[in-house]
Amino acid sequence: MQFKLLLIFCFVFSGAIYAQPPSILILGGNMIDGTGSKSKRADLRITGGLIAEIGNLKPLPNETVIDAKNKIVAPGFIDIHNHSETGLAKQPTANSQILQGITTLGVGPDGESPWPIGEYLARRSEQGIAVNVIAFVGHATVREIVMGKDYKRAATKAEIAKMAELVEQGMREGAVGLSSGLEYDIGFPSSTEEVIVLAKVVAKYGGIYMSHIRDESDSMLKALEEAIRIGREAKIPVQISHIKMGTVGVWGKSLEAVQIINDARKDKVDVTADCYPYDAWHATITVLVPSRKHDNVNEVAKGFADVGGPENITISSCSHHREYEGKTLDKLADENKTTAIEMYMRIVKDGGAYIVCRSMIEKDIETFYKQPWVMVASDGGINGRHPRGAGTFPRVLGRYVREKKWLKLHEAIRKMTSAPAARLGLKDRGILQVGKKADIVIFDAKRVLDQATFTKPFEVPLGITDVFVNGTQVVKASGVTGATPGLVLKK
Ligand SMILES: [Zn+2]
Repeated sequence: MQFKLLLIFCFVFSGAIYAQPPSILILGGNMIDGTGSKSKRADLRITGGLIAEIGNLKPLPNETVIDAKNKIVAPGFIDIHNHSETGLAKQPTANSQILQGITTLGVGPDGESPWPIGEYLARRSEQGIAVNVIAFVGHATVREIVMGKDYKRAATKAEIAKMAELVEQGMREGAVGLSSGLEYDIGFPSSTEEVIVLAKVVAKYGGIYMSHIRDESDSMLKALEEAIRIGREAKIPVQISHIKMGTVGVWGKSLEAVQIINDARKDKVDVTADCYPYDAWHATITVLVPSRKHDNVNEVAKGFADVGGPENITISSCSHHREYEGKTLDKLADENKTTAIEMYMRIVKDGGAYIVCRSMIEKDIETFYKQPWVMVASDGGINGRHPRGAGTFPRVLGRYVREKKWLKLHEAIRKMTSAPAARLGLKDRGILQVGKKADIVIFDAKRVLDQATFTKPFEVPLGITDVFVNGTQVVKASGVTGATPGLVLKK
């Protein structure tokens, strides 16, 4: 008798430990699978972090059932350009990211990356994170390691060779590509040839070249040609970051940019781009004056005119003058009884600032989003001061799909899922299919909408109810569960 009891006990006990993790059934939803196909009625079963079954399914005993009736079930969003590098360390649950449906994000864009890459990724893995993370090697990062403070010049051959070694190290440690920020101070003095040498190293590892191009204003088209040349000569896929026509002088010329990219694509250069859904950018104040002549009155005046005037320029963060934050340059000039040009010079001299600058027009954003090779990416991150950090993906779904009807819903989802997955070589994500990783977002297509604004950048979006990362629920009833099932994804 006692023996029998013991047997039963062992059976129950081992069952509790060794049983398959319980399955989850997403029931009654309309599935958009990420490939660009239209939505269809389908239930999904998740087991062991994977999509186990898709079809007309019945709940199993003890199964967790998620009611997806009247909702869209889609692959989790993949954000190829994200600034959560330090944010992830401080807040591993990545609240503002998962609440907008992001399940994989790429850190290290714009030429600035964590370093060493291997150590950064290992830390995230040990710490536990809610989202999957990939990393780029930053061109400016390796350039600064090699050249130190003496970066305002072309690099020597020996210096470029050293940078190439570091890029190689980054790729060996799991990076997915090289990012550059050629419009920023450290990247700007580099020659095209320097970047080509580094891109060739990345090409060897099957990575991509992702660039915030040298100019997003009057010389945008020329800068685009440079990025394409780098792709052609290094034989590497090119991702144009946050494509935009950023000054009055190029407003309305998005079709010319599209033509240049289409020609390159016909010519077998693999060029794609991403775009964020806002008419204002967020960057260092010095990019207003591409010539770098920050104390030349005419150059600064031109910089202001290019963006429609100093009333379009808001200081978002300024470590030397916290009191400037949230104010426009013309307001600051008034308060300080000076001119906006003088204000600019003072801020640059005192150590610079980050600004939000309203300098794009919607027509260009629409043109870009309508290109099949343009993806959705945020350029934001955890605790970013630009509303894109919390609102990008629901903003596209709510405003550009539902309200303005620029895109079909299934096409917008493709731009958020399988398109970036293909770009990054993530073979088991970005599509809802049996056997793929269960990164899934569930939302109400009639309600989904961003709420974050320039004055309230952290507001949580509406309509995104449930998010799964590797089969574990990270968002439930539009709230953060606190689970950290994210993985480090290496090339
Ligand atoms: Zn950028």
